[in-house]
Amino acid sequence: MPHPHRRGATVLVGLAAAALITVPTRQAAAGPVLQRQVIGYSVQHRPIVAYHLGNPSLRRVDVVIGQMHGDEHAGVRVVNALIRGGRISGVNLWVIPTMNPDGDAAHTRQNAHHVDLNRNWPVSWTRLTGQYYSGPRPLSEPESRAVRAFLLRVRPHDIVSLHQPLSGVDTTDGGAVDPALRRRLERELGLRAKPFRCHSVCHGGMTRWYTRHHYGVAITVEFGAHPSARYLTRGAPRGIVAALGGRRSG
Ligand SMILES: [Zn+2]
Repeated sequence: MPHPHRRGATVLVGLAAAALITVPTRQAAAGPVLQRQVIGYSVQHRPIVAYHLGNPSLRRVDVVIGQMHGDEHAGVRVVNALIRGGRISGVNLWVIPTMNPDGDAAHTRQNAHHVDLNRNWPVSWTRLTGQYYSGPRPLSEPESRAVRAFLLRVRPHDIVSLHQPLSGVDTTDGGAVDPALRRRLERELGLRAKPFRCHSVCHGGMTRWYTRHHYGVAITVEFGAHPSARYLTRGAPRGIVAALGGRRSG
């Protein structure tokens, strides 16, 4: 009675073939990145890179900026985790691990011109010196100009800008205009709502510039000083995608 054996063998071969098709090694190694784009260069000519993830057919685009201040590394780890693994669905997402690669390399808040890139945007800009040096004029820095051009091109509905170490989700700018987004970020990231007012008024800040004058909202998320590796590589990446309405598996 050869029939049952043959049918059994056929089923086994079929399952093995299906498993190979579902998890090809090449795709697993490539991760969820659909596209990598150099959007500009820093003062010291390091590339500023944006990665496209998720579902590109969705009309709504969101952006996550991992790092603006080079001495704040948590957000880079979160964004790198998004780039390196876990299937992302339900969002059309661009992520920028760092918009300050020179500061990241030197572990300085500022860029290589000693400018605080979060005081360099054309909104309530004023001359500031010291650690908050705002540059000679708004958008004086190549890093700010590169990110500005990118944001005006992709027109994100939501921008999440990652910082450290104040631990909270900002209630000003995007957090004031879209409190529902703020609450989702609080819940998914386990952070509290807090007003980040730069000691008094935020001059030349990216989230204010985008939220006041452009298509969507931009919100600041501050991680704590020492988040765990597990939080940065699993909880926070999944939480940010969930807060933006998507899903990240793995
Ligand atoms: Zn910061």
